Amino acid sequence: MENMKKKVVYWITGSQTLYGADVLEHVAQHSEEMAEYVNKYMPVTVKYLTTCKSSDEIEAAVAKVNADEDCVGIITWCHTFSPAKMWIRGFKKLQKPMCHFATQYNEKLPYDTIDMDFMNENQAAHGDREFGYIVARLRMDNKVVVGYYKDEAALKEIADWCRVAAGYAFSKKVKVCRFSDNMRDVAVTEGDKVEAHMDFGWQVDYYPIGDLVEYINKVTDADVDALMAEYDKKYTMGTKRIDVVREQAKYEIAIDRFCKDKGGYIGIVDHFGALHGLNQLPGLAIQDLQSKGYGFGAEGDWKIAALGAVMQYMADQKGTGLMEDYTYDLAEGTCLGAHMLEVSPQFAATKPEIQVHPLGIGGKSDPARLVFEGIAAPEAVAVSMVDMGDRMRLIVQKIELIKYPHKMPNLPVGGLMWKYKPNFKEGVAAWIYAGGAHHTVVSSVVTAQQMVDLGNMWGIEVVLIDENTKIEQFKKDLMWADVVWKNKR
Ligand code: MN
Repeated sequence: MENMKKKVVYWITGSQTLYGADVLEHVAQHSEEMAEYVNKYMPVTVKYLTTCKSSDEIEAAVAKVNADEDCVGIITWCHTFSPAKMWIRGFKKLQKPMCHFATQYNEKLPYDTIDMDFMNENQAAHGDREFGYIVARLRMDNKVVVGYYKDEAALKEIADWCRVAAGYAFSKKVKVCRFSDNMRDVAVTEGDKVEAHMDFGWQVDYYPIGDLVEYINKVTDADVDALMAEYDKKYTMGTKRIDVVREQAKYEIAIDRFCKDKGGYIGIVDHFGALHGLNQLPGLAIQDLQSKGYGFGAEGDWKIAALGAVMQYMADQKGTGLMEDYTYDLAEGTCLGAHMLEVSPQFAATKPEIQVHPLGIGGKSDPARLVFEGIAAPEAVAVSMVDMGDRMRLIVQKIELIKYPHKMPNLPVGGLMWKYKPNFKEGVAAWIYAGGAHHTVVSSVVTAQQMVDLGNMWGIEVVLIDENTKIEQFKKDLMWADVVWKNKR
């Protein structure tokens, strides 16, 4: 996975020539100093680009931003007043996300010495409003972050946004390799792949499973020995049926090679009912691949594979993966989530153990899988994407991952347990009203705000279910949104 720090966010300051060369020199110096400070706390590289004083300068800066392959976005700020008509021509051409940092070089007012020279040089409150108007008028889906540039909370917001901007750039190149079509008769995992390519950049390609079988047949014993040694380091071997485990290792090597050979697929999709030539459903194989950054979707679900790949990138391959709402504890108001096999070991609170058990569906041999208890995390997020026919809807729910309240000795899969926000009743109802799928990407690293920001960058509908959700208002919001999106697309 490529290093996010290689990605660049340019800092562009707005000003004008009215104040004279001395002031402009200070503006440039301060901007550079601020960008350097901010950069130390960012997952990407934040670099001061220029101070813009005219339409031509802004257009030139935007041209550089658009052309720079490593640039994933810009941070803008107005140290002084900056007449905003000059931003129009450039911003009409801007192709990267923009974060408006409403900040200031000084934190406190110098009450004893303040005069009009100070006022003219430090008027972000004035300049940022003029700038904000033109951005609103241009209907740009930008982000506004407010606060002193050394303030921890403001820096965290900027850092989170930079990660989203990097994820947005990453998304444009996501390729999903699909070894099966959608599971027969299932609705929510369907979707318009052309629309997804237009909105998110996702390229979703089908390959017959036989193409993968050819790769599986070419995996050597030595290849398998090497991966088995890796498993030994990371996992406990809880079975004597080593041949069954070696078969999964073969699948993992073959899938990984196939994805790389065919042009860099980072999302994988299979289906337990379409496995001709394989004698097990890939379980351990898919789990270990998810731990390395692949997004995975089961039963033909390419949307969740692509979304998983993007969120994995945003999360530095931590605490993120496919999940499925499985079964409730109605007395406790909790949910136990899992999947047939393919739960990412990024969710493991206990050392994952390789086990072999029969699988009730699919009619194949007993597959090897990783079994573990899921992590606890007070702030996690479950994300679903559904096709509403005229647009994609991203549904983002805040959840609290909890420690297993009891041992479940007969549960033969990895899992997670959680509580829904705002509470069990309204949290579940809101998800169902919004048409949220049973497949989600859960993350204990990516935040709900980041997913909302990503949805805004994509320009799609975003539905948030959090501690403030009230069902009647929520239903009305869905109804208004339907009208808005019908007109927007
Ligand atoms: Mn499923």
